[in-house]
Amino acid sequence: MSEGDDPALRKTITDLLASGLETKVEPFPKTEKEFIEIAAELRTLDPKDIKGKLVLSGFMDHPYGPESWRCMECIYYLAHRKWCDLPELAVPVEPDWYCRLWRM
Ligand code: SF4
Repeated sequence: MSEGDDPALRKTITDLLASGLETKVEPFPKTEKEFIEIAAELRTLDPKDIKGKLVLSGFMDHPYGPESWRCMECIYYLAHRKWCDLPELAVPVEPDWYCRLWRM
């Protein structure tokens, strides 16, 4: 199986999540307005601030919620690159990870 894009950054993110990084997994943005607010906040970060992106978007390295939401079913997930295509994130992800910007 391919490692996907940017293996070095993938490892950095994997290690940060495995170290127990606390992220803002809640509240989930129930409305478009709330989603847009989180996206706008992400845009204020330095694009290289990976930790900040993970914290603000509520990253987890496992599925989340009663329906076990995962990147794999999210509209922003690019399977061939194992990549999150949400412009405000634009990071390597694994299919069974999750963040609160999840959308189907
Ligand atoms: S928006 Fe979140 S859940 Fe969706 S692919 Fe990106 S990181 Fe995964």
